[in-house]
Amino acid sequence: MAESTTDQFDVVILGGGSGGYAAALRGAQLGQRIALVEKDKLGGTCLHRGCVPTKALLHVAEVAEAPSEGKDLGLDLSLNSIDVEKMLSFKDKTISRLYKGLQGLVKSRKVEYVEGFGRLTGKNTVTVETENGTRELHGKNIILASGSFSKTIPGIELGGRFLDSEAALQLPVVPKNPIVLGGGVIGVEFASVWKSLGAESVTIIEGLPHLAANEDEALSKALERAFKKRGITFSLGVFTEKAEQSEDGVKVTLADGTVYEGDYLLVAVGRGPNTKDLGYEQQGIEMDRGFVLANKETLETNVPGIYAVGDIVPGLQLAHRGFQQGIFVAERIAGQDPAPIVESGIPRITYCEPQLGSVGLTEKQAKEQFGDDSVETYEYNLGGNGKSQILGTTGFIKLVREKNGPIVGVHMIGARMSELMGEAQLIVNWEAYPEDVASLIHGHPSQHEAMGEAALALAGKPLHAHA
Ligand SMILES: Cc1cc2nc3c(=O)[nH]c(=O)nc-3n(C[C@H](O)[C@H](O)[C@H](O)COP(=O)(O)OP(=O)(O)OC[C@H]3O[C@@H](n4cnc5c(N)ncnc54)[C@H](O)[C@@H]3O)c2cc1C
Repeated sequence: MAESTTDQFDVVILGGGSGGYAAALRGAQLGQRIALVEKDKLGGTCLHRGCVPTKALLHVAEVAEAPSEGKDLGLDLSLNSIDVEKMLSFKDKTISRLYKGLQGLVKSRKVEYVEGFGRLTGKNTVTVETENGTRELHGKNIILASGSFSKTIPGIELGGRFLDSEAALQLPVVPKNPIVLGGGVIGVEFASVWKSLGAESVTIIEGLPHLAANEDEALSKALERAFKKRGITFSLGVFTEKAEQSEDGVKVTLADGTVYEGDYLLVAVGRGPNTKDLGYEQQGIEMDRGFVLANKETLETNVPGIYAVGDIVPGLQLAHRGFQQGIFVAERIAGQDPAPIVESGIPRITYCEPQLGSVGLTEKQAKEQFGDDSVETYEYNLGGNGKSQILGTTGFIKLVREKNGPIVGVHMIGARMSELMGEAQLIVNWEAYPEDVASLIHGHPSQHEAMGEAALALAGKPLHAHA
């Protein structure tokens, strides 16, 4: 028979994704009694339906490009077939290893893991429907971390040949001529994977004027050139009017009357906050279009003792932002005084081919902030970088600095640029001057040297670059 129990905790966390589990692990480390409520799988979107599976497929895509790259290197390789089942199993095995590790970690930290659907039913209460009945969890503090879901647009109901990213990750075939609605991070990553895996045509439809429209315009334009070269086509600046599907395919009509036909439609138009019917409004929490309006400095909501982290908080929807917010809130609750998170200092990586990496202000944002004449930029072309030449990649690293001041933005495009983001984020968050970076030594030959070269040039002493 179903039971009803009541438990007391220091912190009750609703949602076991990146934000929620990071808060749980850190809180437990600080000696707090923690309950972590999860209705599905510990690890959330990132581990099961987001970062990890997409990057596993992007790795397969990279390997699949080897035969065409090999030609110029004297290697006669061929890609004879793709076993999609095996490819998906590689992805699933990767997830499952990490999932096991995470479960072990949560257990070892003595976090009370509560499986079931939770709702905020009081200012310090989360009620969970578990398999064995209802549990009322009382927390001196509560952290809301219920994450996000794939949005669609009016008139497009997901299902059948209309895929969201989760369905696309399970697709048992490589689509022949997919259409991707949305040229943001998720859209361009899938487009890149499918093209590498042999899709005959891939078309991206983006209503904004650019692919990766949130990035510095120089990156967006370079990505568009690179995708064109790869045979990925796109329509920019026109919104979609309707989409239809039949047994054989999909048809998308744009507002200007253009029609695109394909075999599948990936709808990648952004992610909405998963906050509906969870009791947040009823407890008086201030919301805006489903997002929780937590204080930007403290992440506490307007209801004292209730905090919010991750994708439900307006801003960048990224796993590492969720981790950091979770750690931050756990430390505050435990009485520490961690430094507030600066949103513009969060690194952003898009793992398509070529990769995009950025942190800090775009040139436009810097000019808005400091004035047109108070901003200097430099674009170091990877053509001058030995390692990039060996890898056969083109691209650049663009630095944005406040005149006579620190570097406030780093923007990169090219193969493996994600690996340079560690240094890029230190430069921006530690407010390094180009002169500081120019005096550091970068190993040779490496792509890191391109960062050093860009800084040398911006400091007025270019080495392997024209002034
Ligand atoms: C295709 C894709 C690729 C991505 N790639 C990247 C990437 O490369 N890098 C990156 O940084 N980010 C990436 N992201 C974004 C990243 O996954 C999210 O930013 C991150 O998962 C957000 O963490 P979160 O804790 O806020 O939410 P989630 O990870 O969504 O976790 C929320 C959890 O709460 C649980 N939950 C919700 N409601 C309840 C309830 N009522 N009761 C109990 N449990 C509940 C859910 O089941 C879920 O497990 C990607 C996302 C997608 C979709």
